Amino acid sequence: SSPVRLDSRVGGLGSACRSPLLVSRLFQPSNLRESKDAALDIRAGEMTCRSQKLMLQGGLIHPSSPGCYCYLPATVRAMEKLVRVIDQEMHAIGGQKLDMPSLCSAELWRRSERWSLMGNELFRLQDRHGAEFCLGPTHEEAVTDLLASQGTLSYRQLPLLLYQVTRKFRDEPKPRFGLLRGREFYMKDMYSFDASEEAAHQTYQAVCQAYDRLFHRLGLRCVKVQADTGNIGGKLSHEFQLPADVGEDTLMICGNCDFSANTETVEPGRTDCPQCHSGVLIESKGIEVGHTFYLGTKYSTIFNATYYNAQNKPVVAEMGCFGLGVTRILAAAIEVLSSEDAIRWPGLLAPYQVCILPPKRGSKAEDVGSLAEDLCCGLEELPNLKGEVVLDDRTQLTIGKRLKDASRLGYPYVIVIGQSAMEEQPQFEVRCQQNEETMFLSKEGLLDLL
Ligand code: ATP
Ligand code: MG
Ligand code: MG
Ligand code: MG
Repeated sequence: SSPVRLDSRVGGLGSACRSPLLVSRLFQPSNLRESKDAALDIRAGEMTCRSQKLMLQGGLIHPSSPGCYCYLPATVRAMEKLVRVIDQEMHAIGGQKLDMPSLCSAELWRRSERWSLMGNELFRLQDRHGAEFCLGPTHEEAVTDLLASQGTLSYRQLPLLLYQVTRKFRDEPKPRFGLLRGREFYMKDMYSFDASEEAAHQTYQAVCQAYDRLFHRLGLRCVKVQADTGNIGGKLSHEFQLPADVGEDTLMICGNCDFSANTETVEPGRTDCPQCHSGVLIESKGIEVGHTFYLGTKYSTIFNATYYNAQNKPVVAEMGCFGLGVTRILAAAIEVLSSEDAIRWPGLLAPYQVCILPPKRGSKAEDVGSLAEDLCCGLEELPNLKGEVVLDDRTQLTIGKRLKDASRLGYPYVIVIGQSAMEEQPQFEVRCQQNEETMFLSKEGLLDLL
């Protein structure tokens, strides 16, 4: 099997470095040794899971208060990459990115009646004048009011797809499992406006297909299941679920046809498929990473979000809304791809793509250590790898120890400069995480591979 090439549509995060990024300088506080907080967290008997443990131990997140974390630099890099892939898929279906305030006026939420319906999950606050606000847990009210206030939308501008990637706030009764269920987290939320129910269904399908492409590119096997519409409301809804034992949703999947549903919608205890009637329903746990809703005119009626039709008459717009749990996807990917003690990222999201290990100080190969920087700069010139290469300069440590750290942090490629680099035609040992293969390549071979 040949290693998978890096996706050139995503590319590296930085500009080519003048001096290489050094592992000894990275702010990754626990640096793999069990951090005090991680140990405390786990000892406290709090339910935990693989991704939470790996992210705490790997210096990817730092607990702040229940359900709130500092996202440390490596996590921010992974998230920036994820957002870039999301942007590409949303732009491909005509999505336009905006950014709405987190501070949401209570007045809008009272109009939709969700000020009371959301109960304790809503973080509420007052400004100095006594005006009430909530910290946005989702933005149907805000975006529909925005549309309504424009007043001049024409049918020619539809479908209109607006989305944002912002922090969301929910006072979860049980924040847990690290980034899987936070009280403050990142969500991509898209809202669609269409001229008819039929057009809204087409948009709904287009977004679902964009989600399929996204998860396919990330290498995550998602199941799309029929779902409940909860307090968001609407008529039609699907969840994108990542099968995993730690998942908090229970799914019923037919072994015979394409029927799959969240048990929230299925008659409980049912084992025969309600669609094909011959298949048996198999139960599994899932992590909800995305959720799509066809809303109809629920919000557009309340806020009077209309467009002008061909006869120049105002008509209430048909809406849909489409969520993706950005920080949840990061943790869920680590959850399902990693082993007990080594993080494995979707290739596109790894915080850094390559780690180079120069020889140990005082070893036979020390003299060829300078090849490391040379190689680093060579790789950084590849458009895919700009800002993506780190040099593990902790040469007081053995190659073995640093290799172990590197495999635990999940660099897709680790390059060892050792004995074989001392030959007249230096060969580099390349470990490819994806297929667990080790190769010996010349510098040219390496540049070609990556
Ligand atoms: P859950 O059932 O897990 O509580 P939800 O159904 O309340 O999620 P939605 O309102 O559908 O969530 O929000 C859209 C997406 O936001 C979800 O599919 C999920 O990926 C993400 N999400 C929701 N709540 C959280 C949370 N507390 N922490 C991280 N991500 C979340
Ligand atoms: Mg919820
Ligand atoms: Mg749910
Ligand atoms: Mg949901």
